[in-house]
Amino acid sequence: MNSPVALFQELVQAGPPADAAVHFDTACVLGGSIAGLLAARVLSDRARRVVIIEPDDLPVDPGPRTGVPQDRQVHTLLPAGHQWLERWVPGITKDAQDRGASLVGPDQALTAVNGVPLAADGEDHHLLAIGRPLLETLIRQHITSIPNVSVLKARASGLQYRDDEVSAVRYVTTTRADGDEQVLQADFVVDAMGRSSRLSHWLGDAGYDVPRLERLEAPINYASARFDRPETTAELKISGVLELFTPDYPSHGVSVAAANAIEGQQWLVMLMGYGDNRPGRTMEEFRSACAQLPEIFAEVTAGAVRGGVVTYHQAESRRRHFSGLSRFPARLVSMGDAVASFNPVYGQGMSSAALHASCLAAYLGSDADLDQAAHAFFDLQQVVVDAAWAISAGGDTARLDAESGAQVPEDIRQQRWAMNQITAATVLDADIARAFNYVTFMLRHPATLADPDLLARAVTVNEAARVTR
Ligand SMILES: Cc1cc2nc3c(=O)[nH]c(=O)nc-3n(C[C@H](O)[C@H](O)[C@H](O)COP(=O)(O)OP(=O)(O)OC[C@H]3O[C@@H](n4cnc5c(N)ncnc54)[C@H](O)[C@@H]3O)c2cc1C
Repeated sequence: MNSPVALFQELVQAGPPADAAVHFDTACVLGGSIAGLLAARVLSDRARRVVIIEPDDLPVDPGPRTGVPQDRQVHTLLPAGHQWLERWVPGITKDAQDRGASLVGPDQALTAVNGVPLAADGEDHHLLAIGRPLLETLIRQHITSIPNVSVLKARASGLQYRDDEVSAVRYVTTTRADGDEQVLQADFVVDAMGRSSRLSHWLGDAGYDVPRLERLEAPINYASARFDRPETTAELKISGVLELFTPDYPSHGVSVAAANAIEGQQWLVMLMGYGDNRPGRTMEEFRSACAQLPEIFAEVTAGAVRGGVVTYHQAESRRRHFSGLSRFPARLVSMGDAVASFNPVYGQGMSSAALHASCLAAYLGSDADLDQAAHAFFDLQQVVVDAAWAISAGGDTARLDAESGAQVPEDIRQQRWAMNQITAATVLDADIARAFNYVTFMLRHPATLADPDLLARAVTVNEAARVTR
């Protein structure tokens, strides 16, 4: 059995199969957002037809939609997600750039802790700065132009089973006033219905094991607003900004601030506070909060307002544990936020969905018995979820414990001390910034940061900086 680090690496590098055997007549994907679309791309190689069931109107012109209430907030596509997307949906980066999105390379990115930029890591990673509705629209245009992929405008309402296999999806067409259920026969089903997915209820009602729901209470408050990005301020050269603030920095309740140069010559600017900190509920508050931050936030909010402040509150991170369930139907998997949705400030959601799609590709390309529950898929997916959870929930738990003064076991205390050493050294040392970026960009497993040589180096550079100060 490969280690999680090695498996993670394989998943990050996976591309479309050269010669894919078709396993299914009809594969059905529940939910037509990012995770559902990426699942459909993988399934288009393995099924005669792929039907995406999605209740929302899916406009040709990008715009907010009901089923994705977070879509007006800053959404950065990390390098892992960007690489996956370009590999499986070639040409999408160019389409995004043609529509005005920014491909943010090392020279255009500013990442800083308490106003001090991370050391240049010498790598050539790229993020995509784009409005979430446009990104989803472009992905959807590519995926639904695949001849065997179609969208059915309906709300999935349940599953049917035969001999412990999923055999059909029940759905209600949202245009029908009587709401009668209809049935679509399917020989493989993907739940991509987001964090409010009803799959657990359906499984429980049918007498199957229900995945354990793990919750981490970590209330966050987002506020985003859009501003004109005149050509003159484009001289800034920077097109993606991410600034983190520790509690001792005078950021007046803002823990993270970001700005992305998105389509339409706009800056999409985001402020985030934990707990009771709600930065910027009005434009006046938003601008005055930005004025307390490093200078660049005054610059990116200087232009005319394009869209008022939009807030978003999330009370908790969640994950559902599908691995190891003994009574579970075959031909059914779950992906994306339906499985795990984290503190969004780590920007992992869409890249996680891409890596879940890699898990699906690996599972369908293996010799797994498709008439049995997809344990091999869920075990692989757990590697991805564990990695993302370690970063976001690990960071949030450490912060919450520090705030409450909670006693923690010695091994956890040491791990956190080591992580703090690494984080502090990212602004001082290129090698450490590189190792850290690979992990936060979801290109490497977080366990790669637990390297004793890396820690020793971090301690040395931090100590040298302390002496110099
Ligand atoms: C404030 C905020 C900021 C974020 N920022 C980032 C970021 O910077 N970078 C990043 O990578 N991620 C970010 N994310 C996470 C990102 O939004 C999600 O991870 C991403 O959208 C993938 O989600 P998904 O496709 O699994 O589910 P969703 O996007 O939630 O979509 C679920 C879909 O299922 C459909 N659906 C629901 N019920 C049914 C049903 N019964 N039948 C059929 N369809 C149904 C919905 O209409 C919707 O289309 C952020 C999230 C939040 C909340």
